[in-house]
Amino acid sequence: MKRFIILIFFLLPAYLFAQESKKILIKAGKVFNSETGVFQPEMAIYITDNIIKRVKPYAEVSEKEKNEYVLIDLSKYTVLPGLIDAHTHLLNKETIMPENKFTGLDMMKTLTMEGDAYRAIYGAVRAKAYLEAGITSVQDLGNSGMFADVALRKAIENGLVDGPRMRCSGRGLSSEGGQMPDVVYKHREIINDEYRIIKGTEDAIQAVRENITQGADVIKIYSNNTPNVTALSIEEMQAIVKEAHRYGVKVTAHATDNESVYNAVISGVDGIEHGYQIADSTMELMAKKGVVLVPTDGDSVTTLQYAKLSWPDDIKQQKNMLLYQKFLNNRLKRAIKKGVIIVAGSDDYIDFKLPYAEPSLRTLVGYYESGMSIVEILKAATVNGAKQLNWSGKIGVIKPGAFADLIAVDHDIDKNINFILQIQFVMKNGKVYVNKVK
Ligand SMILES: [Zn+2]
Repeated sequence: MKRFIILIFFLLPAYLFAQESKKILIKAGKVFNSETGVFQPEMAIYITDNIIKRVKPYAEVSEKEKNEYVLIDLSKYTVLPGLIDAHTHLLNKETIMPENKFTGLDMMKTLTMEGDAYRAIYGAVRAKAYLEAGITSVQDLGNSGMFADVALRKAIENGLVDGPRMRCSGRGLSSEGGQMPDVVYKHREIINDEYRIIKGTEDAIQAVRENITQGADVIKIYSNNTPNVTALSIEEMQAIVKEAHRYGVKVTAHATDNESVYNAVISGVDGIEHGYQIADSTMELMAKKGVVLVPTDGDSVTTLQYAKLSWPDDIKQQKNMLLYQKFLNNRLKRAIKKGVIIVAGSDDYIDFKLPYAEPSLRTLVGYYESGMSIVEILKAATVNGAKQLNWSGKIGVIKPGAFADLIAVDHDIDKNINFILQIQFVMKNGKVYVNKVK
């Protein structure tokens, strides 16, 4: 009998239990269409629950609809899709050492004296700051211990903590040593807590399966792994790409010099992270194959801060650092000229002594300093980011069917990129997290 009652309960029509939908109408001064690059004036965005249903001129909104929907008036602002940072390390921080010397000591301290639980809590604090800064999606590319990134993603999804949507890589796939220098042979096992060390093509395939089973949305590989000198072989990278693509999962490669970029590109990766020194011919190949570039560059503020913390008393070295930024600006300019798709990503893990998430936004200012147009920058941080996160049509766009992830910034964002540093309104999944609108 009891079983019978339970059965009836499950057979009752779902609509008897359905909550009434939440209907929101946003009146936007301007809407950025990330696909066309056009700012459309005086638009209405219709949202039901967590999904964008319609976008049309506000003048066409009927009186009936005005009564039916809850109005959010953003008519003095420009509304953009929530920003996407395609290269974060929410669970990792690195203190700047004197003379810019990378010792790996911070990483060792994290692994042996803090641990994954502490890192996840640290990540949660930063995740909240990211969301409040208008970054509603991130792709978190490793240095998160043993899948603590996946744990944080789950906590955000379950509503335990506020944060952006996360795409996680789990441990990055690397050759011997990972990116941890000077670890004595006896203790090298500790590196496995941070990197998945690949030992041949069969092991490479196994590593992809491990990460995907543990919940990875993307596979991060290290085509080279500075400061250590070993590198994955082309055969290993090809095996990784083939296996990941079998599950519809993208592969993105840390690659800094031209050789590592070229090797990753011919192995079939979907994205190149950093790419500090890329030859024109490799850029042409990237453009032809549709391999995106994520230029994890800073702007003049973060670069100078980095220089001052590295060489507090050496003005000459500080100036050299700014010259290096010019060098990176130049390679970004060349990549755009060659037709490489640019995706915004900050690689924000260095402790610049700035508020959390600000270095991520400053990456966009850095792109402007490189000569990228504001429209192209906003595309890199929205629609192009969605492509790299394997989530096209759901994030990075304001159109029917996409998640209701929206931000509002000063009306004149199309003339001044610095307004991106002062987000006025943030909605993620139909829920308002920030509203400074007067
Ligand atoms: Zn990184």
